[in-house]
Amino acid sequence: MKICPYCQNNIKDEMKKCPFCGSTVALIRSSFYDQSAPLPQVEHLLNQTDTPIAFTQASPYLANGVKVFVSIIATIPFIGQIVAIICAIVWMNAKDQDRKSFGSALLSAGLILFFLTCMFCFGYLMIVAVINSGIDLNEIFNSIVK
Ligand SMILES: [Zn+2]
Repeated sequence: MKICPYCQNNIKDEMKKCPFCGSTVALIRSSFYDQSAPLPQVEHLLNQTDTPIAFTQASPYLANGVKVFVSIIATIPFIGQIVAIICAIVWMNAKDQDRKSFGSALLSAGLILFFLTCMFCFGYLMIVAVINSGIDLNEIFNSIVK
């Protein structure tokens, strides 16, 4: 077993991707924990000041603050929902599992909210149109009831 450097979960040695967070862990060998084995790759990674190879694939998690923020944005009629849907599509195409799962959830939520907003506006416009047209709703209602 080895430990995922991103989420600290135990994963099998042969796994190249962490099943918990979707990060690429191929470069972190199990020899990392074997004291007798040389550690050239690990030292190389630790000495690098810029982004190490193993960390370029995906950042560990989408911050909860970002998720909450985009969820709130999604409640803003039309503009917010379109922004949320775009974010959702971008995240769904991301490599890590966290973004993918949040992206698909956000996409369905965004589409439902967008649909509800459209229905609400349509209903409102219908009511306004009926009122402006001078149709007497009471008359229609009475004729149906009779
Ligand atoms: Zn992980």
